[in-house]
Amino acid sequence: MMKKLGWLLLIILVLIAINIFAKRASVANIHFKISFTVDEKATVPSQFADTLKKAQQLLSRVFSSSEFKEAMYQQSYNDSAYSKSKKKCFDVVFDQSTGRIPGKAVYDNLIADSNINLLVNIKNNGTKKGTMGSSNACNYTITTYDYWLVEKGELAQRLARHIAHEFTHIRGYRHDNKVEKTYKWGHQPKEDPAYGVGNIVGEILKDWSKKSKI
Ligand SMILES: [Zn+2]
Repeated sequence: MMKKLGWLLLIILVLIAINIFAKRASVANIHFKISFTVDEKATVPSQFADTLKKAQQLLSRVFSSSEFKEAMYQQSYNDSAYSKSKKKCFDVVFDQSTGRIPGKAVYDNLIADSNINLLVNIKNNGTKKGTMGSSNACNYTITTYDYWLVEKGELAQRLARHIAHEFTHIRGYRHDNKVEKTYKWGHQPKEDPAYGVGNIVGEILKDWSKKSKI
């Protein structure tokens, strides 16, 4: 009888430990669903559908992770980009006295919906290689240029990072070059939510890759 109770106690303790671990590893439950089209002038690698699916999984995992939340909470951005926006798909949250946007506000905005459906339109941009793609506030369609879509060097990770950057635009944050003069902050990636989120996603994936978690 005592032996059975001992086993039962052990099992309960293990279950509690698993529960604590699971809660730590995942703080949100975000699912990206990403479909794509390829423009007739654009080309993608032969396994691209699988690579994008992998990017979709990576992105869902990062957005659901405690690492992402913790990193975002430590940020502060100089971005009044959306102060004039009339778009309604996001709440405009910033510190009225400093004009700065706390990382928590960006994080909350990014994870506001647990199911995120995106369409990636792959296009050819001629010889231009200055930009990887583009997107607009509240439109869940991303334009991605094909020149950098080569399988070598962890394309799924680079795609996840790129889509995180563009998704930050979709949730209302613009670059310095799209903002009125009085709000400009210069091209400092650290001050810019889209670059900031892309970098954080990239760093987390690098770290997980090093630790063989992905
Ligand atoms: Zn951008």
